[in-house]
Amino acid sequence: MKVTSLYIMGIDLGGTNIVSLLINKKGEIITRDKRKALAEEGKEKTISQIVESAKAVIEKGRNKGISFQSILGIGIGSPGPLNTKEGIIYFAPNLPGWKNVPLKNILEKKLNIPVFLENDANAAALGEWWIGAGRDVNNLVLFTLGTGIGGGIIINGEVLHGFRDTAAEIGHMIIHEEGLLCNCGTKGCLEAYASATGVVRRTISALKKGAKSILTEMVNNHLKEITCKMVYQAAKKGDKLCKWITEETGRYLGIGIANMVNILNPEMIILAGGMIEAKDLLFNPVIKYAQKYALKASIEKVKIVPAHLGDNAGAIGAAATVLKRKGNL
Ligand SMILES: [Zn+2]
Repeated sequence: MKVTSLYIMGIDLGGTNIVSLLINKKGEIITRDKRKALAEEGKEKTISQIVESAKAVIEKGRNKGISFQSILGIGIGSPGPLNTKEGIIYFAPNLPGWKNVPLKNILEKKLNIPVFLENDANAAALGEWWIGAGRDVNNLVLFTLGTGIGGGIIINGEVLHGFRDTAAEIGHMIIHEEGLLCNCGTKGCLEAYASATGVVRRTISALKKGAKSILTEMVNNHLKEITCKMVYQAAKKGDKLCKWITEETGRYLGIGIANMVNILNPEMIILAGGMIEAKDLLFNPVIKYAQKYALKASIEKVKIVPAHLGDNAGAIGAAATVLKRKGNL
């Protein structure tokens, strides 16, 4: 019997959540499973959670009449560094105990289906390119703004992996020589300034130097409780310090975007992650400074837009990876 409608599965493996989706070739979600990742319980636990989540999605699909045989494969979006060809995760900062894990082989044995590995931010970029904000363009750069800054680059409709799968580490672009210390050990990375963590850190440092802000009252003097969201909320209320911090954040991101635009000349820059909830307060200064610092010919007509797929981007892109590797996309 010829299988006419095929399905694919995408799993977004994060330090916080594991999201699994069964989707059709148009990118429509058929079934979904989201569970809290018990990463601190170790590698074996997380692997069994992935297997359970995949099985749950397959089972829900079966209840909708989708046979296991009609599922082409599973794509996994994972933190890295990793090896996409061999399917090995070398190391994952948010997954304790993960070192040189041959995840592709392990899952193929347990689930009996082809598995493909992709870096999580690359997967998100691919997802946005396939059916999200970037569906009408072929060249884009995605910035994920969260605890850190991740990136994914799509050139001519393909993920840019680089020599050893470590391309698009946009967050570690140095924007300030001898600047703030980054988690990677280097000073002055974009991530140290413009990630949610960077925003909070710069705010607290300004407060400690004596700057006044309604934030102090909002957290009852417990500066450690300040979040990036609060900084944007206070800025919206007109708080002078927070307005300055958000302007500066836009400037740092604008510098990062200008660098990417000058090098790659994409059609679109997509910003993703929790910080985009700040909307204009984030985007207005970002666009202003990107235009200020990039070459005119390179930035002209480049759209700087929010991501469309939210929480599902990683899993959708992981599923798209299956289609890409099998030559169906
Ligand atoms: Zn860094």
